Amino acid sequence: MKKIVIAGGGISGLSARYYLSKRYPEAEIILVEKSERLGGCIQSSVSPFFFERGPRTFKASRAEALFKLIDELGLTDEIVYSSKQAKRRFLWKEGRLQALTPFSPLIRPMIPSLLKEWRQPYPWEGDETIASFATRRLGKYAAETLFDPLTLGIFAGDIHKLSISACFPELKAMEMDYGSLTRALFKKKRGKKKRGLFTLRGGLQTLIKRLIEKGRGEIHLNTPLKSLDEERLVLALPASAIKVLFSADEEIQQFFDPIKGASITVVNVAFKGDLLKKKGFGYLIPTSEKEKILGVVFDSAIFPTQNQGDETRLTVMLREGGVETALEGLQRHLNIHIAPSEVHLKEWKEVIPQYGVDHLKRVERFGEYLKEKYPHVSCIGNYLHGASVNQCIAQSNLIFNI
Ligand SMILES: Cc1cc2nc3c(=O)[nH]c(=O)nc-3n(C[C@H](O)[C@H](O)[C@H](O)COP(=O)(O)OP(=O)(O)OC[C@H]3O[C@@H](n4cnc5c(N)ncnc54)[C@H](O)[C@@H]3O)c2cc1C
Repeated sequence: MKKIVIAGGGISGLSARYYLSKRYPEAEIILVEKSERLGGCIQSSVSPFFFERGPRTFKASRAEALFKLIDELGLTDEIVYSSKQAKRRFLWKEGRLQALTPFSPLIRPMIPSLLKEWRQPYPWEGDETIASFATRRLGKYAAETLFDPLTLGIFAGDIHKLSISACFPELKAMEMDYGSLTRALFKKKRGKKKRGLFTLRGGLQTLIKRLIEKGRGEIHLNTPLKSLDEERLVLALPASAIKVLFSADEEIQQFFDPIKGASITVVNVAFKGDLLKKKGFGYLIPTSEKEKILGVVFDSAIFPTQNQGDETRLTVMLREGGVETALEGLQRHLNIHIAPSEVHLKEWKEVIPQYGVDHLKRVERFGEYLKEKYPHVSCIGNYLHGASVNQCIAQSNLIFNI
């Protein structure tokens, strides 16, 4: 009987364990996890206020693998969709919170470039930075006002360094397939639109708990994988951990050097009472504002069913600083001056992989090299084809060569 060792007990490792249990019923499966808990980036806490310290929302239209897994695990009834008001998004710009709507003053300066976007030169195949793509198609204002905060919100990254093809493949595809973003928006076939955002009623820890139950094989906590000497290995580790495991291999080091993850600090804050004057998903802050805060998520407004009473739950994402910086920002931006009922700080080090220009080409070469030099090793995780939980699950379901 074959033995499969999976290293890493985050969503990638646990979903690989589940899929491999089904695919190879005869195999002995062992999962080793370095820390004392499972879930990796996924960390929900329920009492006295509901907080997610890592991932919290999924776009229903981009979550095929996640929906399928939730269904297989019998968790469909646990899905909670976002409120209607979560569709509203804001930017903190020029000292005030401004709504991002088609007619807002934020969008007005973009109208001339939007109207002539379809006439911009036809695309080429190669990769480029997000800033270069956005400026070429929609102008500098759109790059700095829309693409910059969006990239900060998702990747905590710099539009002048990150790759359009790896970070926003759907935008690159719109240009490649239709020659223009606006033309693509008009011409693309509109299927039945899936509803906004979703999560699970008891938080994402519910998914982790069910995966542990439904997968097969021993789980060893506090057990870091230290060598590559197993019969069959699935590495479901953060990029930094993989780099250490392959420290003797110069070629692999070169693959990981440009991916070095961005660090962020997450501060969850809860207040008694409904204090939000403007309801919505939350707000992002463009780099030009020179703030220490990247953005704030209005958790209590997005998923009111997770409120345990009349409360305001917010998550502040920081590029620097801690609790004081977060509370000072909430005073200035949202006019919240009362003391919070609960605050939790989590520092995530090098957690969000940065996909530089030509990342996808490097991933392809890395895959080929691995197959040739380490045929007993499969690598999955958020540093390859996408950082979302959905993409991590999709990759975990693609391990067939055991
Ligand atoms: C603050 C934050 C917010 C996010 N928000 C969203 C969101 O809203 N939506 C979304 O889709 N995605 C979001 N993401 C991204 C997503 O959460 C991650 O990309 C995903 O959870 C990564 O899962 P993983 O299993 O690949 O890695 P991890 O969760 O990092 O798990 C890897 C595991 O490997 C273990 N490990 C490390 N070294 C070793 C070793 N040597 N041996 C054994 N085990 C080891 C670690 O302890 C860890 O448990 C967010 C991420 C963060 C940090």
